This record gives sequence, structure tokens and C-alpha cells, in this order.
Amino acid sequence: MTSTSIIQKYEETQLAIKLISLGGRIQMLESETNLSRNKLIKLYKEIQGCPPPKGLLPFSTSWFMTWEPNIHASIFYNAYYYLVKNGLKSGIQTILKAYQLYLEQCQFSSHKDKPVLGLTRAWILVKFVEKKIMQQSCCNACRGRFITHAYHPQNTFTCSLCQPPSRADKNNKTQKENDEKCMKVLSKPSYLNSSVAKQITA
Ligand SMILES: [Zn+2]
Repeated sequence: MTSTSIIQKYEETQLAIKLISLGGRIQMLESETNLSRNKLIKLYKEIQGCPPPKGLLPFSTSWFMTWEPNIHASIFYNAYYYLVKNGLKSGIQTILKAYQLYLEQCQFSSHKDKPVLGLTRAWILVKFVEKKIMQQSCCNACRGRFITHAYHPQNTFTCSLCQPPSRADKNNKTQKENDEKCMKVLSKPSYLNSSVAKQITA
């Protein structure tokens, strides 16, 4: 871009601050703003208090297909899908809103400091679906919508909540409660019809 207006620069800086605060990686920021790499690294250090992590982004679909990540990725994507279906433009601002909804919905399982699904992975997931590398598939048992590889044959998918892998601890009460809540979020898009979602899509 040859010339950027002051307002545009300001807006991009605001966006970068939000993304960094939520754990966004530099490569993602470079792709979503026109700010220079140096400026982004400086911002990152100021906000996170440490230099940004080096190395490639997690460009693999297999992570999304493992048990717990799949449930979290599906909750996030359901929120994103809901917002876009209700008139929000696809893109980074909506990814941010969906991610905030995801964080809200997933507070119940925040036994660790970090959410299972990081913002950068959420962003990559949206790209994967846009590029038809991954898709949402409907579970033939609970009718919830889950992330799967693209071109998964219709009516052949059973989600990991209906058919958990044997190593998942099914007797754990909190896990069960979490599963039930996940199920609600995934099977009824209207569950997101909270005042928050309404506010966001208004
Ligand atoms: Zn299911």
C-alpha cells in the first residue's frame, strides 16, 4: 500500500493490539494489517512483555482432529458461522468476536491458564474452511456440527462426544458436565442467541 491514512493506521494499530493481547502471532498480524514487521514486534514486546515466539505457524490439520481440540475448534467455528450467517462480514473482526464468544462459552473448562484453542489456530481454522481443507460435518447421533476434514462423506460422521476415544476419562464428573455443555453449544446454534451474540450482531 502506497499511502495509509492516519485513521487507517490508528485502526490497524488498535486491531494489532487486540490480536496481540489475545495471543495472536506475528505472521497473523502481518497478514491482517499493513503495519511493518518491526512495529508489530515492538507492539508485541510492549503488550506481552517478551519477544514474539519464532518459528512457523501450526499449519497442520491433524491438531484440529484430536479429541479435545476438535471440540474447542468446533465451538469456536459454530460461533463464527453463526455470526456470519447473521450478517457479519467474514474476516478478522468477526473472527475476533467469535473468539471472544468461544472464550466466554469455554470458561467452564478453563482448568489450565491458556484456552485450548489459541487465537492464531482459530484464525488458521477459518482459512482452512475457506480454502476447503476442512469443513463442518453434522454428527449423525447428536446432530451437532463439528470440524472435520473436507469432503467427509455425509451422514457418516460421529463426533467424539458421542463416541469418545477410550482414553478419555468418562467417569470424571466435571468432564461429563463439560461434555454436556459442549453438546448444548454444538447442537443448538440458538444457544448462542444470548444477549452477547445479539449485541454483537446488532
Ligand atoms: Zn455427536
